[in-house]
Amino acid sequence: MRAVRVTGGPETLAVADVAVPEPGPGEVLVEVHAVGVNQLERQVMAGARLGGEPAALPRTVGIDPVGVVVATGGGRADDLLGRRVAVKPNLPCGGCRFCREGREADCTDQTVLGVHRDGGAAEYTAVPARAVFPLPDGVPFPVAAAAVHSVPIALHMIRRGGGVRPGDAVLVTGATGALGCAALQVATALGARVIAGALEGEPTGELRDLGAEAVLSYGAQDVAGLPGAVRAHAPDGVRLVIDATGSGPLIEAALDALGWAGHAVFAAALPGAAVTVESRPFYARRLTLHGCAAADNADMRDGLALLAGGRVRPPVAAVHGLEQAGAAYAHAGRRDHLGKVVLQVRPEPGSRPEKERSCPPPWTTSA
Ligand SMILES: [Zn+2]
Repeated sequence: MRAVRVTGGPETLAVADVAVPEPGPGEVLVEVHAVGVNQLERQVMAGARLGGEPAALPRTVGIDPVGVVVATGGGRADDLLGRRVAVKPNLPCGGCRFCREGREADCTDQTVLGVHRDGGAAEYTAVPARAVFPLPDGVPFPVAAAAVHSVPIALHMIRRGGGVRPGDAVLVTGATGALGCAALQVATALGARVIAGALEGEPTGELRDLGAEAVLSYGAQDVAGLPGAVRAHAPDGVRLVIDATGSGPLIEAALDALGWAGHAVFAAALPGAAVTVESRPFYARRLTLHGCAAADNADMRDGLALLAGGRVRPPVAAVHGLEQAGAAYAHAGRRDHLGKVVLQVRPEPGSRPEKERSCPPPWTTSA
């Protein structure tokens, strides 16, 4: 089968022939239809550690495949045969204290598909059955691939920050990325008023269509005006900040935009990024800052359910064929697009064969 392999740094990414994997006990074989192209993999290719063991190379990348279960290693996994499924990127250990409490996002011994074991940027992938979740009917595979990683984490971030009630003001920074778009859509679906923030030059034109009440732009080194701009729309400050950038200055500015007892949750970790917190206002205003790197199984189930009704339908920035993986990862590394770059491994039923094309914005047809 064809698979996207890395043997070292990002320059070694290439499509190669490898054996179809065999599902072991408790595993399923997924015929992959689409998979997201993620910054996380780019960081790993560049040598970043994700905690735990480093990625063993060579490795098939692809953390969030979607497809159809075509074989199993037996047991209860047989119930999944023939199902359209999404694979959860973070594989919890199932045995630690956090897993036993249903807090799989905080599992102390989790591994990541495509990093610690071969991933789903391939024609087939073998994964633990407990990492596989049925997809709602009517969600095209490329849209599902754009959602699998981002929507559950966005939902987890909102829940981690205490949830939102209808009318609550939420600031989403890094709103044009896949996670930012998902956070914007999920928070809006839950009734929040979302202020979307993005760097100057990023494509913010569609953010209002995704539900943003206001869109703010700022320079990479010039975020001092952000709290004031936020308070022009939310005079008491926001209840929740979702930061999808991991930028220290941006998180610091966003903390200043929080209202009383507000929560800020950040999910992207830039190497070397530092956040400086002035302790007294942080204490006096009862603020909370959370780090978030994964989702619980419940977030996965509930996030996929949000797709079913069309209330959340993350934008697909572009669809590339498997053989164009190099171009796809280069595309994902740029800031000129809104939402997720997707690799389409098999053509969607009824569509023309993929080379490289832009996908029509699927959210424009959502309810
Ligand atoms: Zn665990």
